[in-house]
Amino acid sequence: MAIPPHNSGPIAATLIPGDGIGPEITEAVVAVLEALGAPFQWDVQQAGLAGITSGGDPLPAATLESIGRTQLALKGPLSTPLGGGYRSATVRLREAFQLYANLRPGRSLLPGGRFENIDLILVRENLEGFYVGFEHHVAVGDDPRAVAMATGITTRREAQRIIRFAFEHALAHGRKKVTIVHKANVLKLLTGLFLEVGREVAKEYEGRIACDDRIVDACAMQLVLNPWQFDVIVTTNLFGDILSDLIAGLIGGLGAAPGANIGEKAALFEAVHGSAPDIAGQGIANPTAMLLAAAMMLDHVGRVEQAERLRGTIDAVLTSDNIRTRDFRGTASTRDYTQALIRRLKA
Ligand code: NAD
Repeated sequence: MAIPPHNSGPIAATLIPGDGIGPEITEAVVAVLEALGAPFQWDVQQAGLAGITSGGDPLPAATLESIGRTQLALKGPLSTPLGGGYRSATVRLREAFQLYANLRPGRSLLPGGRFENIDLILVRENLEGFYVGFEHHVAVGDDPRAVAMATGITTRREAQRIIRFAFEHALAHGRKKVTIVHKANVLKLLTGLFLEVGREVAKEYEGRIACDDRIVDACAMQLVLNPWQFDVIVTTNLFGDILSDLIAGLIGGLGAAPGANIGEKAALFEAVHGSAPDIAGQGIANPTAMLLAAAMMLDHVGRVEQAERLRGTIDAVLTSDNIRTRDFRGTASTRDYTQALIRRLKA
């Protein structure tokens, strides 16, 4: 992952509070980062439903301009209106800034769950596969939508770029093994090319990083039977989307899962979860995933010590102080939990 050259002093960054619980958890995250002394100087912008309300577009030009300038963004969850012809603003952001690598670490946060001590990283290709949106209907008789078709894309160039990213990330973070996940037995060309490129790239890292491969269905089962066998997983867009939520389930739910979208010219950090409209405005949302995304953002700009302090403080509040929100089997409000983090950071 490219680390920008600014290692001291303030760093301009775009902040998108988002929809639903987004503004509540963003407020919590900003307060915690302030107590930590994080370097970010926020340029607050809108997207999602908030973007439609303020600028008539889920991805307003001002938001794109801001990220183009700062090359760094922390984003709350965005609601995608069903119908109305709007494409997901999150997907559009990934395309606009060619954020080709989606990095989703899965680390157990809470003791006593079904799976403890999980610490793996999923690297998902973010721009190709079945998410390119090449879909259409074919009419049969008087049914205009009798057949639905989708085309997936794998390019050698993009496969090389994402698989190299996974190996470089493994090297930089002291990881030992990369597992290439595919479905080359059925989608022989689409994911066969990904596997072929993966095996070629693996040769460049022989003796430094081990490599194996798994068919996606077998990988899903193995993740549940023995997740500890995995270290870094690299896979295509759709498989990565599904497996990353499976991994979130292993480590305690969506409230624990952060994600980073990394490109050559920008990086965008977010929680994996959505805008949780069912609990919005109740003051009970869990800001942990967005806080962990902010920790990844600190890593990205070279503030590794602050990132580790933030992760350590979250661990201490959850496991030593036992202060947790309801989705983490606790009773704390967003505010109680945030104050507990700030108390520890200021102690
Ligand atoms: P969701 O992740 O918003 O919610 C799923 C369940 O998890 C809900 O019960 C919710 O209350 C709970 N939950 C999620 N985050 C939580 C948190 N931080 N604290 C406590 N509980 C939490 O998924 P959904 O309901 O399928 O989607 C709602 C909206 O979010 C949709 O419009 C969807 O398009 C959007 N979405 C956005 C993103 C993104 O911006 N990256 C990701 C996924 C979904």
